Parts: sequence; C-alpha cells; structure tokens
Amino acid sequence: MATAAQEPIPLFDLRLTDDDLRAVEDVLRSGTLQMGAHAEAFERAFAAHLGSAHVVALSSCTAALHLAFVATGVGPGDEVIVPSYTFAATAAAVLYCGATPVFADVIGPHDPSIDPAHVAALITPRTRAVACVHFGGYAAPVHELRALCDRNGVALVEDAAHAPAATAGGAMLGTVGQAGCFSLFSNKVLSVGEGGLLCTDDARIAEQARRLRSRAGYRFDDMRAALGLSRLRGLHDDIAQRRRLTRRYRERLRAVDGLTLPYPDEAVDASSCYVMPIMLTDPGRRDAVRAALRSRHGVQTSLLYPAVHEFTAYLQRFGRIELPRTEHCSRAEITLPLFPHMTTAQQDRVVAALACELGAP
Ligand SMILES: *Cc1c(COP(=O)(O)O)cnc(C)c1O
Repeated sequence: MATAAQEPIPLFDLRLTDDDLRAVEDVLRSGTLQMGAHAEAFERAFAAHLGSAHVVALSSCTAALHLAFVATGVGPGDEVIVPSYTFAATAAAVLYCGATPVFADVIGPHDPSIDPAHVAALITPRTRAVACVHFGGYAAPVHELRALCDRNGVALVEDAAHAPAATAGGAMLGTVGQAGCFSLFSNKVLSVGEGGLLCTDDARIAEQARRLRSRAGYRFDDMRAALGLSRLRGLHDDIAQRRRLTRRYRERLRAVDGLTLPYPDEAVDASSCYVMPIMLTDPGRRDAVRAALRSRHGVQTSLLYPAVHEFTAYLQRFGRIELPRTEHCSRAEITLPLFPHMTTAQQDRVVAALACELGAP
C-alpha cells in the first residue's frame, strides 16, 4: 500500500514553458500592459482555432456568460433554463441579468449533461435562453438542444468553460449555440490565471459584448493575452496527453469495484478531458474514501459539483425543488488528479489507492 510519506499527487498542476514566460516578459518590458494588440491577436487566434467569426476576450468566463445572456436578450422577468450540476457561475450569470434560473436535471450518472427532455418540459413563454455545460470537456447533447431551442425561439448559450478544443459531431463545442463561453482560470485546460472568452458567429452579439466589456469592467490585459497565445500553441499536445491519460485511467478503473465511469469510451477522443470524474456506486462512502485517499495515499481529489439548487442562497430564494439525478451525481462523484504531465506512476498510485479504499469494507 502507498504511504503518506510518498510525494502527494495534486488534483491539478500547471507547468509553463520558457516560451510562455518569455511571451509575458516581452509584454511587461514593452510598458503597454492594458488590453491592446496582444489581446486582439489572441482573440483572432482563438477564433481561428474554433472556426468562429468573433471572439471577445474578457476578465472571466463568468463575465462571458453574463454578457452572452445580456446579448441574447435575457433581462428582468425572463427565465433561463440551466443545469444545477455545474459551477455556480452558470446560474449566477442569469441572476446578474435580473432573470430567474430554472434548473433542469441531468441525464444520469453515465452522462451528467443537461437532459434535453427535461429542458423541453421546462420551457414556458418566459423562457429566453437555455444554457448547457460540457461537463469535464465532454459534449452535452448540443445539436439536439440547438434544434429544441430553435423550435421554441430561445437562445442556446454553451458554458464551454471545460472544453476549449472539444467537439460534438464534428462541430467545435462553443460554436453550436448562439454564444459559447470559455474559462482561462488557472486550473482550466487553457489557463492564464484569470480570464474568459466569448465566441459567436453573430456580429450583433459580438459588438454588444465588446461595448459592455469596458462599461462593465470586464476587460482583459495584454500579459494574459500573450500567455494565452503562447499556451494556445501547446493546447493540442496538452489535450492529446489528457486523452491518453484518460484512456489509461478508464482501462484500469474498470477493474475496480464500487465505481462507474461517466460517458462511453468513444467520447474521450472528442473531449478536452478537463477532469477525470468517477461515480461511486455507494455515495455514502464518498467522504470516507476521499479522506483516506488524502491521508493514507497522498492523493488530492475534488467534487464537481455540489448541486446549485441545493445552495442555501437558492433554497431561500426559490424554495426546494427536486432533481433526483443531479442530486445523485452530486453525491456520488469524485474528481481524480489529471494534468498533462501526470506520470503513469502517479496514475497507477491513484488507481491502486482507490482499489485499496473501495475494496476495504
Ligand atoms: C470555471 C467555470 C466557470 C467560470 O469560469 P471563471 O473564468 O472562473 O469565471 C463557469 N462554468 C463552469 C462550468 C466552470 O467550470
């Protein structure tokens, strides 16, 4: 068995190259730090990467979601259908518009994406938009959602915070809805510290986002743009590594009792593999398993996500609603360490630690 004396394995680790550091240093030495030529170049490069007409660089993905909702016409009195199984920002951005988030359930532990059938049932005359999250970098049923939204005359906003180079049916995630929002936060796949990107093919949405960027204080800066440009060059290799490690995790974890793996194996090659989620068969064991992974094996884990509809602030404001599949996923999920330069020895230690703890009664 592994011992705590072994080097801890972090959930995530960021490694910058000398080129990354030089790119930032050049901006710092230039004396022009605010949003300028580097930000424009980064926007153009990311637009080319996506095959999207417009990309607007912003201070965060939360800002991108807020402006995406505003620009697609969401305002006070409107409803926006969002998953509850997500980071708080997806729903918070709806509140920033004075609108009401209406939570839809996920498909299930095998596919914790927003369920299009439940979305269809929740659409009312007040619905202005639907948001989907590509959990872990795996595509939500985005083409089905787009068709559903089009039939009902509402916008689709993709929270692609996890998915900067993932696809669904050949389309880049983030480009299927009216707007796609990406995060550049330091633990995301394409990280620069803090930042976000809004992509759209709609010139009107792009223009409004650019105008509101300055007014709302959602500006980006050229240091982070230079880092983003440099890191974008390595994105393809980073994701190839993430996919390789994910395939290897899945092969080995299949032999471990007491857990299931979300998504089919075929989905890995289209995913950005932001995180490695597992679902415990018995959610009641989760806290003890996580504590043992940390203290006995030096393995750091996380939880993606506590269900937003169960947050005190939402319970107080909107009352209790039941989303049984979301609640199950939010209690069963553990996020395992994954980062591009993770070694196979580290990965084997994580798998052995899980087998040890889940095997124990
Ligand atoms: C990280 C994240 C966000 C917010 O990104 P920030 O850049 O930190 O604002 C939004 N949605 C999801 C699903 C995320 O994981």
